[in-house]
Amino acid sequence: MNQPAAQNPDGHFGALQPITSLGEAAPAPCPRCSGLMELAELESKLVILCTDCRGVLISSMVLGEIIAQLRRQYRGKDIIPPPLDEDALSKRIDCPNCGRKMDVHPYHGPSNVVIDSCSKCWLTFLDDGELSTIQLAPGER
Ligand SMILES: [Zn+2]
Ligand SMILES: [Zn+2]
Repeated sequence: MNQPAAQNPDGHFGALQPITSLGEAAPAPCPRCSGLMELAELESKLVILCTDCRGVLISSMVLGEIIAQLRRQYRGKDIIPPPLDEDALSKRIDCPNCGRKMDVHPYHGPSNVVIDSCSKCWLTFLDDGELSTIQLAPGER
């Protein structure tokens, strides 16, 4: 895939984020906005996409692989990510699978995004734009 980076409505340059909905509702609503979530596909992996806030729930087991692929594909300019949003660290959401509070922490790779994960269910929730921010951040590709 060699599409040029398109500008998102929020003004950020990014990212091929080809999340394809499979048109099937997920069992639980969105942990961020309670919107309807649908099964979807990203880099040939099954993910769960919120039809409302566009947050995405990804198995922690494939997250690294998806991000590695997204970063490898990107041929545009590196975009310096915005500074870490300290406020995001205090906004905790419930795991849509087990209902426990998810852990909030900075993503360990490039970028300053704050992600939510459940270590019991191996699920990670990324808000809209966070995957693009990680994809476009400077660093090894
Ligand atoms: Zn949502
Ligand atoms: Zn859980």
